[in-house]
Amino acid sequence: MKIKRVSKIESILDKVKTPSYICEEHLLEENLKLLKYIKEQSGAKILVALKGFAMWSTFDLVRKYLDGATASGLWEARLSFEELKKETHTYSPAFKEEDIFYIAKISDHIIFNSFNQLKKYKKIAKDINPNISIGIRVNPEYSSAPVDLYNPCGAFSRLGVTKSEFKKEEFDDEIEGLHFHALCEESANSLEKVLKVFEEKFKEYIPKCKWINFGGGHHITRDDYDVEKLIDLIKKFKKRYEVEVYLEPGEAVGWQSGVLVAEVVDIVHNKMDIAILDTSAETHMPDVLAMPYRPEVRGAAKPFEKPYTYRLGGNSCLAGDIIGDYSFDEPLKIGQKLIFEDMIHYTFVKNTTFNGIQLPSLAILKKDGSLKVVKEFTYEDFKNRLS
Ligand SMILES: *Cc1c(COP(=O)(O)O)cnc(C)c1O
Repeated sequence: MKIKRVSKIESILDKVKTPSYICEEHLLEENLKLLKYIKEQSGAKILVALKGFAMWSTFDLVRKYLDGATASGLWEARLSFEELKKETHTYSPAFKEEDIFYIAKISDHIIFNSFNQLKKYKKIAKDINPNISIGIRVNPEYSSAPVDLYNPCGAFSRLGVTKSEFKKEEFDDEIEGLHFHALCEESANSLEKVLKVFEEKFKEYIPKCKWINFGGGHHITRDDYDVEKLIDLIKKFKKRYEVEVYLEPGEAVGWQSGVLVAEVVDIVHNKMDIAILDTSAETHMPDVLAMPYRPEVRGAAKPFEKPYTYRLGGNSCLAGDIIGDYSFDEPLKIGQKLIFEDMIHYTFVKNTTFNGIQLPSLAILKKDGSLKVVKEFTYEDFKNRLS
């Protein structure tokens, strides 16, 4: 099963007030259909990781295809509970006591990052919600994640219990699951390798579990992802251990499902042409600087491949707020709109109002072709985060 992606942004571009993120509903649905196919073929359950994709105005659609959401703490758990209304699985590197009551009440699974936390909260969680399923995150200490910033299994990682720290005597009957998260934008081959290490290290515990959560980082909806291999790995794993398997992708849910539309506000020259936009890498596309990577701009090519080359810069005062260098068929004009591809995951979940820069609106291009602006941010949103 392959995804055919046809963007329809151009049809409504005139109506877009910039800056604006626009999720294309039909593209999101293509991703969700593929994820559902994997669920059906493999028997795994699939959750959306709200950390990467939390556009809750699309949850009526998401709910039809996925089993629930994975949350990184109280607020995401609440969002899952209030808006997605399916399973809520909550993991945090460290739960605070004041949050644990509410988290336990609204979560179906709670996953602890250490035996300390497990011991401290296990009974409280069970008292509040006798049906809650308790798990612990392990660190398989193996990953092929591309950069250290996104490698949960790197040196001295605080995320998950390593084999040498795993306390056999504390792994009691109340622990129903193990969770690992070791991948970042990776293939089914990477999962196969991690799974092998995970099984070698934790084999005595896996058969005692009801479920194993394979975490996120599966780049399932990318064109070259080997979906059939993933299905095969899950099916064989489930057969070997007779456990439920969960996947919790974030990026793969929102992958290539929409854009960020911005406008050229000015063009300056300093040994090269530089266009300044009404968007910013620092505040609106943080992974461009953090990963770092160069987002695609529709119709543009690498520098000097086309006749007119520009550096695209953000409207913050940060010197390094540069999106990248691009070339175009025609000179850019002030007021012209530019379309940044694949801007629906890990963008607005991370946005800031640094420099008082306006937050882009959130919009959905509906399947019927209409544009629905679901959120516009105001000066008060900026002011209310400060005092
Ligand atoms: C980040 C994260 C995910 C989602 O990762 P993606 O790369 O967006 O698929 C899932 N589970 C955990 C524990 C995470 O930290």
